[in-house]
Amino acid sequence: MAPSAIVAAALAFLAGWKAVRVVLAFRGNTSPAARQRALAYFTPGEIESGKRNSRPYYIPGLLAYVIELGVLWALVYLGIARRLEDLAQAAPWLPLQAGLFLGLLLLAEGVPRSPLSIYSGFLLRKRLGVLRQSFGQWAVFTLKGVAVNFVLLWVAVTVFIGLVRAFPGSWWLPASAILTLLAIGLTFIQPVLLSPLFYRFTRLEGPMRDRLLGICRAAGVRARDVFVQHESTVTTHSNAYFAGIGGSKRIVVYDNLLGRNTSDEVATVVAHEAGHWAHHHILLSTVLAAASILAGSLLLFGLFSLHGAEGFFGTSPGRLSVLPVLALLGLGAEALTEPFAAMLSRRLERQADRAALGLTADPEAFISVQVKLVRDNKADVLPHPLLVRLYASHPEPLERIRMAHEFEKEKAPGQPEGTEGATRVHREVR
Ligand SMILES: [Zn+2]
Repeated sequence: MAPSAIVAAALAFLAGWKAVRVVLAFRGNTSPAARQRALAYFTPGEIESGKRNSRPYYIPGLLAYVIELGVLWALVYLGIARRLEDLAQAAPWLPLQAGLFLGLLLLAEGVPRSPLSIYSGFLLRKRLGVLRQSFGQWAVFTLKGVAVNFVLLWVAVTVFIGLVRAFPGSWWLPASAILTLLAIGLTFIQPVLLSPLFYRFTRLEGPMRDRLLGICRAAGVRARDVFVQHESTVTTHSNAYFAGIGGSKRIVVYDNLLGRNTSDEVATVVAHEAGHWAHHHILLSTVLAAASILAGSLLLFGLFSLHGAEGFFGTSPGRLSVLPVLALLGLGAEALTEPFAAMLSRRLERQADRAALGLTADPEAFISVQVKLVRDNKADVLPHPLLVRLYASHPEPLERIRMAHEFEKEKAPGQPEGTEGATRVHREVR
């Protein structure tokens, strides 16, 4: 069997699995018991609207994935990547060659997918009422994102190819070390240099700032500033996050979160983020990122040391035309590791939720935030259980709510069980 046919079969399998995911996503959780649990917090209309708002993204997402696989396969096995490489080699210097090649690659991959990007990224979000930008604003915002990604990739690719050429027999070691340093540097500059290209930030002042910094102190997290991200000019989403490391570390809250929630609810969201820091999740994810860069480099080194590998892929790690091969291998690795990453992520999220409940001792605010976030983000509250188990980065909202009730019971033994608290919250946040 020809290499092109073997790879095509593997890609067809990936696409098929993605299609199965879409079918399951459309079906959702059909269990009457789960629906009954959801009805304690959401009206039938809200449950329906979550589904109506999620479903239109599934098919365009699947098509975009299939196009990506198809374009990458064509680049590698129809010899297009090597032709683009020849074109780029006309430039006199590796960084220029890498920039030229990468630009051509992004065009080859991005242009066929652009109608879908406009449909899902602009038209659908506009129709569902989550996007606040005009088409012009959205286009500028999106192209800025493409440009930033291009520059970051450009640096990474130049460094990678340069090191492979300089250390042909042991490049995996310097390449993984330097790429890890670059990733850490990126975490540092993200809040200071990159995010401000997309959003306006202001410092939060007043009692809310003191309260949020107090929560961080209670969690043992040192943060100097709370910033407000003016998300409301872009979307209706609500969120908060910690960004940066060392001197660039800060708490960021969306203005939408401040505008639509009580201060107890905002405190709960920030306490969750502080929980991530208190349990060293940021350090853990940095270590894991470094480990996966190392593992990826070693696997790639090993793979291309095999007899016949260069013939199979039609290129080698020191050449620019290896990039689409890396992208294909990356998609394969993603498909294999995604369930494990999601499982770990859910475990960390549960830990942060418990930390938040411990810090605020306010399960009521915790529950009402969960309910509001689902409404604000128009999320599907009844996703298919298998998809949750394999791919969800967070526990389901209903599970998080149950966790808060358990915390409530632990704190106040002897109180009657039931959904009385929930019903009250339900009425309050409407
Ligand atoms: Zn979290």
